[in-house]
Amino acid sequence: MESHKNNLSVLSRRELLSRRRAAAARLGDVEQVLSGALTGQVRRCGKPGCRCADGEPHGPYFYFSPRPAGRGRARYALAGVVRRYLRRGEQAEAVLAEISAINAELLARRELG
Ligand SMILES: [Zn+2]
Repeated sequence: MESHKNNLSVLSRRELLSRRRAAAARLGDVEQVLSGALTGQVRRCGKPGCRCADGEPHGPYFYFSPRPAGRGRARYALAGVVRRYLRRGEQAEAVLAEISAINAELLARRELG
């Protein structure tokens, strides 16, 4: 974190604005984002003679828990789609953090406006 801050502090205002513009361009489409956790669970149904009794459980079944916690419980989820949206959400958050760090540097220089 400290090295990241130092890294920005050596850049000129022009370089900071250029980097900020490039980061904003990388943000791209932010419609397909999700924040939360995807968890997979395996189950044993308990029926005698089922394959799960021999150690091959059912599933995994995937559940998505939104963050911040949304209405209702974790939902059965389409794991592939949810993973893709979570990945996009993490990328968008990383870019926003980068832009925020640049703006904090500009603020420290009294050049944010
Ligand atoms: Zn079973």
